[in-house]
Amino acid sequence: RRIAEADSVAVIGLGRFGSSLALELMAGGTDVLGIDVDEDLVQALNGRLTQVVRADSTKEEALRQLAVDEFDRVVVAIGDDISASILTCSVLLSLNIPIIWAKVGDDRHGLILEQLGVHHVIYPEKDMGRKVAHLVRGAALDYIEVDQGYALVKIAAPTVLLGQRLGDTGLRKTHGVTIAAFKRDDQAWQNADADTVLHAGDTVLVVGPTPRAESFAQLR
Ligand code: ADP
Repeated sequence: RRIAEADSVAVIGLGRFGSSLALELMAGGTDVLGIDVDEDLVQALNGRLTQVVRADSTKEEALRQLAVDEFDRVVVAIGDDISASILTCSVLLSLNIPIIWAKVGDDRHGLILEQLGVHHVIYPEKDMGRKVAHLVRGAALDYIEVDQGYALVKIAAPTVLLGQRLGDTGLRKTHGVTIAAFKRDDQAWQNADADTVLHAGDTVLVVGPTPRAESFAQLR
C-alpha cells in the first residue's frame, strides 16, 4: 500500500465537497490521497493532504499508477460532470474497490450509480435541503433523520419539562419521544436519565419517530 495501511481514503474530485471532506478526514487523523484534473485545485491542497495528485480518474491506468486499486475506501466527489463520475465509478468497480462512496447532483445521476453497484450514493443538496426545511419550520437547533421515520432533534428544553424528574413527566407515553441527553450552560453534554431535572435554558436531544419528535420540538 502506498500510503498508510489501514486508515486511508482516496478522494477523487477536490471541488467544494471533495476538498471539505478530504480536509475533515485529515483533521480526524485519516490519510488522504486527493486526485483532481484541475492543477489549481491540486496546488491549493498541496501539503494539506497526505498526497495530492493531478490525474484524470476516468483512466484506469492513471488510477493504477497512483495505487488507487489498493485502497479499501474511495470517495468520488464529481457532481457536475456526470459522465466523468460514471466512468470513474465504473473503473473503480472493475478495480474491485471494496467500498465506494459517490456524491451526485440529482436523482438521475444517483440512480445510474446505484444501478452500477456503487455502495453508497450521497445526495448533499437534497439531504441538506430537507434538513434545513426542518430547521426553518420549527424550533429545532439541529435535526438528523437517522433513518426513514426516526429522528434526533436538538431543541431548547420546553417549559413543560422543567423542574421535575424526567421519569415523572410521562414523556414517552404522552409524546412518544425520549430525551437522550442535555447540555447546561458551558458544561459538556450529559446523558439524561429518569432522575434528570431540566432547567430553563438547557438544550436537549430528543429522539423518536420523526412526526412525534417534530411535534415535540414545537412545544414551548
Ligand atoms: P463541487 O460541487 O463539490 O464543487 P464539482 O462537481 O463542481 O463539485 O467538482 C468536481 C471536481 O472533480 C472538480 O474539481 C473537477 O475538476 C474534478 N473532476 C472532474 N472530472 C474529473 C476527472 N475525470 N478526474 C479527476 N477529477 C475530475
